[in-house]
Amino acid sequence: MKQTAENKRTRSYIGLGSNLGNRLGNIRFALAAMGQMPGSSVLRMSAVYETEPFGNADQPKFLNAAVELETSLEPAVLLKSLQRIEHHMGRVRQVKWEPRVIDLDILYFGNLVIDTPDLKVPHPELSLRGFVLVPLCDLIPDFEDPASRQKVKVLLKKILRTKGDVKKMETANF
Ligand code: ATP
Ligand code: CA
Ligand code: CA
Repeated sequence: MKQTAENKRTRSYIGLGSNLGNRLGNIRFALAAMGQMPGSSVLRMSAVYETEPFGNADQPKFLNAAVELETSLEPAVLLKSLQRIEHHMGRVRQVKWEPRVIDLDILYFGNLVIDTPDLKVPHPELSLRGFVLVPLCDLIPDFEDPASRQKVKVLLKKILRTKGDVKKMETANF
């Protein structure tokens, strides 16, 4: 079928994090809300992982996951839609890395590399973070990161040292 600009759908990968309130409930709510965004469907989700807080250790542990989204939204519109979900779920933006009900980051948007003040894709810190790479590796271990040109599983191997801080939730069943 011929693809037009209107119906071109891109696979995007979104990182989810929550360390406030009902963390698993928040992940599930965000998952459902992403499926409701115009022109978007959630195709798959990683396992859910419990991870040590990053940056500021004096706060509750996170639950982290990643989803595979198919969307016809432009990247900037996708970011706005994700921020709307964060806002709707009661996220208050104050200090970086403080506890939050939900954090939704665009990890990849197809093979695009985006570098604007408001949006950087691939997510700039991705290759340093076990709590991002471990869930992502559930979904796309062989995907080649368009910035580093390395496979996700290779990026993960490089930071294996910190992987101990990322524990699979055996009870989470989607
Ligand atoms: P980090 O980006 O290190 O994970 P954070 O998620 O806590 O930190 P936020 O306060 O949620 O940071 O977001 C700060 C800004 O990051 C947002 O206002 C947004 O414009 C910008 N941003 C840039 N690239 C991305 C991206 N790929 N996904 C989500 N937000 C992004
Ligand atoms: Ca983040
Ligand atoms: Ca964010």
